[in-house]
Amino acid sequence: MEYDVIIIGGGPAGLTAGLYCARGGMKSLLIEMGMPGGQAANTDLIENYPGFPQGVSGIELMQKFMEHALNFGLEIKMAVAQSLDLKANPKKIITSEGTFLAKTVIIASGAVPRPLNVPGEERFRGVGVSYCAVCDGAFFRDKKVVVVGGGDSALEEANYLTKFAKEVVIIHRRDAFRAINVYQNRVKANPKISFLLDTVVEEIKGESKVEKVVVKNVKSGEIKEVATDGVFIFVGTVPNTDYLQGQITLDDRGYVVTNAELGCSIPGVFAAGDVRQKTLRQVSTAVGDGAVAAMSAERYIAEKLTT
Ligand code: NAP
Repeated sequence: MEYDVIIIGGGPAGLTAGLYCARGGMKSLLIEMGMPGGQAANTDLIENYPGFPQGVSGIELMQKFMEHALNFGLEIKMAVAQSLDLKANPKKIITSEGTFLAKTVIIASGAVPRPLNVPGEERFRGVGVSYCAVCDGAFFRDKKVVVVGGGDSALEEANYLTKFAKEVVIIHRRDAFRAINVYQNRVKANPKISFLLDTVVEEIKGESKVEKVVVKNVKSGEIKEVATDGVFIFVGTVPNTDYLQGQITLDDRGYVVTNAELGCSIPGVFAAGDVRQKTLRQVSTAVGDGAVAAMSAERYIAEKLTT
């Protein structure tokens, strides 16, 4: 069976593309390797998505996105996209659950947390080292945790972690935060949060569980140990594009390069959301991308494939 469009990834960009494509009458399949929702589903409260003046939980918003797309006839399959043949006609998507064919493809496979790459990180991953405060924060009730990073994620999640932890130390490699002022003001006003600036984590140590981090002041060179029960790492993201290597143009950091219509380097292939090279990665921009990519895919079929 041949689909009009196959969407790879079920975060806000993919689900919006799915909604638009299915509503537009395209035979549409979305492939997702886990629960739809992407990184947004791991966010406690989304405060800057219009229409929710009190904020909305990430999981609730993503469930609504999915329900909305399903209502218009989007088919969703749980499978891992392993490789693609995007130059073939129809295009081939090889997944853990078989091969699927489509006239157009929308890549919306998002991004995943970037590891810090320090000794101890892999060993304690999931048992004291976490990349998701919503998933693991409750394990640290009345405990002390450190948060590494200085962007929106680090500061937003540090604040969230104070719901559980008795003490949160933000460790950032510079003395200025990259995060927006709203988050900066909140962490500075939160009595449970303290800061170690101009500081990098060099190692995560412990016997059977995380007990401390070894940190270095990048200005003075001083090295010391900071006792902690957990390490939450928010040092940016890396795109999920390994399966695209050699198929379409990626930038030097692995993000998909797109034009204004969100077309990629191969005709009939579009990209939307965090996976593509862009400046602002938010649910609202992912939604916009999903809509544009869907309309571009529809137009491609109408103009290029039906003659
Ligand atoms: P980010 O904006 O790329 O920030 C990464 C932070 O980690 C930076 O402070 C960076 O330091 C630091 N860092 C990077 N590599 C490091 C390393 N090896 N060691 C130590 N520190 C390191 O990533 P993010 O905060 O995950 O955000 C990702 C995207 O999602 C952004 O576009 C962000 O705006 C968006 N986001 C939005 C919201 C929201 O609107 N509510 C919430 C979360 C995320 P430097 O500052 O020195 O580079």
